[in-house]
Amino acid sequence: MDFSTIKKTVGIFVLSMVAVSGFAQDIIARQAPSDKRLKDIRNVKLNNTAAISADLNNPAANIYTDWTDNLRGCTGSVPDNYKIDLRGFCMPTPSRKLNSPFGPRWGRQHEGLDIKVYIGDTIRAAFDGKVRICKYNGSGYGYYIVIRHPNGLETLYGHLSKQIVKKDQVVRAGEPIGLGGNTGKSTGSHLHFETRVLGQPINPALIFDFEHQDVTGDYFIVQNGISKGNVARSANSINANSEGGNRTAARK
Ligand SMILES: [Zn+2]
Repeated sequence: MDFSTIKKTVGIFVLSMVAVSGFAQDIIARQAPSDKRLKDIRNVKLNNTAAISADLNNPAANIYTDWTDNLRGCTGSVPDNYKIDLRGFCMPTPSRKLNSPFGPRWGRQHEGLDIKVYIGDTIRAAFDGKVRICKYNGSGYGYYIVIRHPNGLETLYGHLSKQIVKKDQVVRAGEPIGLGGNTGKSTGSHLHFETRVLGQPINPALIFDFEHQDVTGDYFIVQNGISKGNVARSANSINANSEGGNRTAARK
């Protein structure tokens, strides 16, 4: 069977930079023919034998001017029409079940997607990159990891039961970085997954389609500008089930 499809531009994402005065971005997600899936995890082994490029030692130095362990406090700037290359991605988990979408929740902003995983499930790096943060936050993310990628994105993986990488470690797309868990402010085992640019959250559903285990296109384009209203646009297409469940039982 041939599942190849010609994808088209699907929407415009607007990032409201409320927390960073005077700074805002529009983000347009474009979809294009996708033939970029990292189909075989064994490729990771091959990649690991390659020399570490300067781009991985200092990822996305074209837009970031800092390297700290402060999640939001990134410095730098994004050029207009900045194209984030999504090819070479790997889904962080094979789970297709979303527990909670990006957007307002319980009176505050839920800055990521909650994806059902079980304690001990392998969580993988979404792209090549370098671990910027590897911390524990008992009242929030629990054990969490932030990776900065050469394409300009940062990805965050929260509520892990175990971190198996260290800060400043270079990782490859698909490389195991942690195990699924229920640490921090979490009511059931799941992966809290965020995508950010310059510390500002972007709805991961605009970039990653967990249901179909794919990215939404070959590229994701960031544009300057201010506009509101589309932040959770893609959340419309995902199943906004409640956080409920609370199951931490081992998978049968
Ligand atoms: Zn969450």
